[in-house]
Amino acid sequence: MTTQATSGTALPFAERLDRLAEVAVRVGLNLREGQELVLTAPLDTLPLVRAITTQAYKAGASLVTTILTDDAATLARFAHAPDSAFDTAAGWLYAGMADAYRTGAARLAVSGDDPSLLAGQDPEKVARANRARSTAYRPALELIANFATNWSIVSAATPAWARTVFPDLPEEQAVARLWDAIFSASRVDGLDPLADWAAHNAQLHARMGKLNAHRFAALRFQGPGTDLTVGLADDHEWCGGASTSRNGILCNANIPTEEVFTTPHRLRVDGHVTSTKPLSYQGTLIDGIRVRFEEGRIVESQARTGADVLARVLDTDEGARRLGEVALVPAGSAISASGLLFYNTLYDENAASHIALGQAYSKCFRGGGEGFSEEDLSARGANRSLIHIDWMIGSAEVDVDGLTPEGRPVPVMRKGEWV
Ligand code: ZN
Ligand code: ZN
Repeated sequence: MTTQATSGTALPFAERLDRLAEVAVRVGLNLREGQELVLTAPLDTLPLVRAITTQAYKAGASLVTTILTDDAATLARFAHAPDSAFDTAAGWLYAGMADAYRTGAARLAVSGDDPSLLAGQDPEKVARANRARSTAYRPALELIANFATNWSIVSAATPAWARTVFPDLPEEQAVARLWDAIFSASRVDGLDPLADWAAHNAQLHARMGKLNAHRFAALRFQGPGTDLTVGLADDHEWCGGASTSRNGILCNANIPTEEVFTTPHRLRVDGHVTSTKPLSYQGTLIDGIRVRFEEGRIVESQARTGADVLARVLDTDEGARRLGEVALVPAGSAISASGLLFYNTLYDENAASHIALGQAYSKCFRGGGEGFSEEDLSARGANRSLIHIDWMIGSAEVDVDGLTPEGRPVPVMRKGEWV
């Protein structure tokens, strides 16, 4: 292991941080002049939060409102709050966020959470707190999932996260290495980050175009411990890279992003699948997941670690046992090539093909799902749930075929790479 910058960039840290903030505001959000911005972030990411705030005002933001979360405060709650407290969530806050998005505010989330913050806590309390939060957050999540406004997520290195990714390094070096990985994956180290992002988006759009032209009825994943057929929703469309939100703004919802994805049919998933990377879910690490689907529903599930939390997640609601997303990412993507396990969905989901339990994105339908009611979406196979959890099923050992409506297989990926 080396302590030197992996990117070999000569740029000073402050400039790279500023470039990441600019990419978040100009590419991630494409923030409009006069638009409000609601920013959520962990306390430990304050330097990036301040750089983003500056870039947002330079882009003409009318008001940036930041909501900070603090790991120590979360742990204090688990240590000292009464048992009855764990069904409480800040509904007033999420209602306010939903109101902001409905009336035109953009949304940016900075992620940098400690992947195992709640590992030592009572799984029952963790599950109750998650459920209360998911329920209260639902109105805001729906607006985000339906792209009612332009939104994005970007990551920042924090000591707790960096320690998890680089357990053998002193903290300062671990944080520096994680920042290097973030800057590199977020494409801020080139001569012109904004132009690099335009080229990357064009590549993702070309990939989507090819998949849309095939009009596959299903995808079949085959690899060690995996033989899974994922039926695709009727009138599904592949999404990826920059897309236009319903307020007419072209935005990149994830920085970085390497995936093309679409909506599975919630009743047409069959077979078994084994996860290829651990899943970090709200402070719990769930590893070695194996599940079996019948007619779209998970009927058997196990996990090597975090099985308790997984079982509770699956019982969140009826939709939690069904799929809301299927995504293809080459095993050789820039993030995957780093060889790191990030314990962070934004990064790990862009290193491997994945499926998501729970809520579907209404955007991945013909015409961007414009004008489709909840009933229209449901009739075409879109799933509904309080949760949306991505987990990784792709690797260099997994092949993917597209199945035509007649059931004829067409090779899509071999050994994790595009055919
Ligand atoms: Zn995804
Ligand atoms: Zn997802």
